[in-house]
Amino acid sequence: MSNTLTIALSKGRIFKETLPLLAHADIHPVDDPDKSRKLILDTNHDDIKLVIIRATDVPTYVQYGAADVGVAGKDVLMEHGGEGLYEPLDLKIARCRLMTAGPVDDQPVNGRLRVATKFVNTTRRYYAEQGVQVEVIKLYGSMELAPLVGLADRIVDVVDTGNTLKANGLIPMEHIADISSRLVVNKAAMKMKHQRIKSLIDRFAEAVKNG
Ligand code: AMP
Repeated sequence: MSNTLTIALSKGRIFKETLPLLAHADIHPVDDPDKSRKLILDTNHDDIKLVIIRATDVPTYVQYGAADVGVAGKDVLMEHGGEGLYEPLDLKIARCRLMTAGPVDDQPVNGRLRVATKFVNTTRRYYAEQGVQVEVIKLYGSMELAPLVGLADRIVDVVDTGNTLKANGLIPMEHIADISSRLVVNKAAMKMKHQRIKSLIDRFAEAVKNG
């Protein structure tokens, strides 16, 4: 295991909202991922690097030890399953809700409910717990379109203001989970790089507490 501490982050909201937490731990990236095409960003510490990847890939990089720690949404972690990861801290950033949604003028459904989502595992689990038989249709984006074109009766997606649903004639229906981003840690790294990771968790926890 190398001596470098590698932190996996995704571009956009998670990166922006993690920056103040990193700053509190005296970690400052040298490049801005929105301006640079680099996937590995240097920081003000020779032995701390950031890898910039797709949000859904963060748990996988951390699980396999390609990154020691990462920041991932609870929605992504629920879908991944969390194998090989510790989840020591709720960072309370990028908050939203995982919801089912359907058309405002909802019609009774004959037969099995069809649900379009990118969160297929979470969706199967949720409806199984409700005792509702569903057909889950995997999509990679623009879930809101599915009920409009008759592809699905429901969608499962993350909702913040609800404006995107509303703009497409949909309303939020059932609340599945409150979502926020979590710090995740590779289990082997937690042992091998314990001091550094522990101090990172402590600094992040202070920053979260101070808001
Ligand atoms: P809304 O504010 O509900 O219109 O959300 C706008 C879009 O951003 C929705 O389609 C969501 O998929 C997405 N979104 C909102 N909040 C988050 C979040 N915390 N993490 C990931 N995606 C989000």
